[in-house]
Amino acid sequence: MNEFQIIERYFMRQRVRRGDVRVGIGDDAAVLRPPPGRELAVTTDVLVKGVHFPEDVAPAALGHKALAVNLSDLAAVGAAPAWATLALTLETVDAAWLEALCGGFFKLAEAFDVALVGGDTTRGPLSIAVGLTGVLDPAGGLMRGGARVGDRVYVSGTLGDAALGLRAVQGQLTAGPSDQAFFLERLHAPTPRVALGRALVGLASAAIDVSDGLAADLGHLCTASSVGARIDIASLPLSAAYQRCLGAVGREPALTFGDDYELCFTVPPERDAEVARLAARLALPLACIGTIVPGDIQWLYNDQAFAVHDPGYRHFR
Ligand code: ADP
Ligand code: MG
Repeated sequence: MNEFQIIERYFMRQRVRRGDVRVGIGDDAAVLRPPPGRELAVTTDVLVKGVHFPEDVAPAALGHKALAVNLSDLAAVGAAPAWATLALTLETVDAAWLEALCGGFFKLAEAFDVALVGGDTTRGPLSIAVGLTGVLDPAGGLMRGGARVGDRVYVSGTLGDAALGLRAVQGQLTAGPSDQAFFLERLHAPTPRVALGRALVGLASAAIDVSDGLAADLGHLCTASSVGARIDIASLPLSAAYQRCLGAVGREPALTFGDDYELCFTVPPERDAEVARLAARLALPLACIGTIVPGDIQWLYNDQAFAVHDPGYRHFR
């Protein structure tokens, strides 16, 4: 197959149809019709073999994750995802592999009504780059820089499951088979918190997605907001499976490893009750882990300082 046959066979066969796509795959550029007067949010994430995924990664998981990480970025700004591009660099053409990659990608795209509108297909070291554009609410979006002293700090879902998934892949984790399966699912098929991000517009003062680890990502939020935070490590939300491993792994993985794709956000204290109602409506736990304060981030465990060693993943040091 040459790249034109690949494009036609795999990428033009999506089920999502959006009325705002005037020209999709097949021309030199896609032509889109955003709602009049609305702002767009644009993001790109690249996954590279050997950095973000191993050589023998399951292609369906790769297709899912490449889109999921971008959906998570749009969730963190509160945008409604709409249009994606996919730049794929392949070493060889393997029909079954491409079929599975598209299966993972399009299943998630359908779940969020995202249309694939273009991309590029080239030969080289395996990598997958997705670009995603979404539409912001007329009320605006969620930025990193809006946190104020006194705001409560929240985290959605649970943290550290993907970290334990990676340990399981590396054979460094002893856990029961169903816990292992849960950690691997969290690592390979994260659930982007799009509905939460949309609902936080007008409620949260700041937000970020946890892709590099809470310590690093809360650090970015605090830096952008020129504030610090007091965080209670004991209140980090941990899954039941994580808690069963807690004795062996401690709380550090839940703080310093990314890939959970949960949202970390801040809310003025008088609006706490709205967060609780939102958690119930979305059936998604939203845990308060601390408070925004002036100065730096203080990590506390039972009121004692807790040293956070790992600053999060860095591509360049
Ligand atoms: P050009 O040379 O004009 O950039 P290409 O041959 O790269 O065009 O691509 C042809 C069409 O197929 C374009 O509309 C492009 O956006 C789309 N396309 C190419 N690769 C992909 C892909 N991996 N996923 C989705 N669309 C793709
Ligand atoms: Mg091209």
